[in-house]
Amino acid sequence: LDPLAIKLRAQHTDILSAAKARQDFTANVSHELKTPLQNISGSAELLYNGMVKPEDVKDFSERIFSESGRMITLIDDIIKLSHLDEGGIDYDKKDTNLYEIAELTLRNLMPVAKKNKIDFTLEGEEVVIKAVPELVSEITYNLCDNAIKYNYEGGSVKVSVSRSGDKAVLSVSDTGIGIPVEEQSRIFERFYRVDKSHSRDVGGTGLGLSIVKHAAIIHDAEIEVISKIGHGTEIKISFPI
Ligand code: ADP
Repeated sequence: LDPLAIKLRAQHTDILSAAKARQDFTANVSHELKTPLQNISGSAELLYNGMVKPEDVKDFSERIFSESGRMITLIDDIIKLSHLDEGGIDYDKKDTNLYEIAELTLRNLMPVAKKNKIDFTLEGEEVVIKAVPELVSEITYNLCDNAIKYNYEGGSVKVSVSRSGDKAVLSVSDTGIGIPVEEQSRIFERFYRVDKSHSRDVGGTGLGLSIVKHAAIIHDAEIEVISKIGHGTEIKISFPI
């Protein structure tokens, strides 16, 4: 094959795999939205037909409320991903204090940590990077949220921000359930979960880490995962300064 034919064939393969990825994503989204919607519809139908005993009305309404909340969270994540898919064209990078953003995340997630009896702390120094603050916030929030969700009661989550050479390093480390080595690269795929029912129980959408990965790519940041089953996980993001 001449070089042009090779190039065209490679482009064709790229187009096919992008189309396949879009198809998979659409199928996954439809499935993920359908499940809560079926629960909502089922509960609403029973209520409407007067098939629910007065003492159970509260439970049924609660189910409708929480399942619609799941759908809203999922749709919010899908919207974020589709913005990121556009290549971050409309994102403006500016001087961003990584420590301050981590501080804000701690403040926002502290009530969840308290509820789960998790010791949640931040240490380190102020480091300023050129970044999109909302996306850095997505990174810190999703990592901390996972570190709390996939933890044991009474465990801890330590966040640190430090400077290492020409990098600003954000580290989120937990004493939780850990991630099997063979799944560590897959957790960044859309809708990939190590344990689907556990993720669902703790309110996961399976999209958090794919948002993190995308946001990291926009910042030329590197991601490192260190994890041991039953002991915990550390995820480090190194941003160029
Ligand atoms: P989810 O919404 O399910 O949490 P994510 O994309 O954020 O989706 O994470 C993908 C999967 O990676 C999770 O379902 C979970 O199995 C695993 N995971 C992520 N973070 C951690 C962690 N800190 N400890 C253990 N498992 C984790």
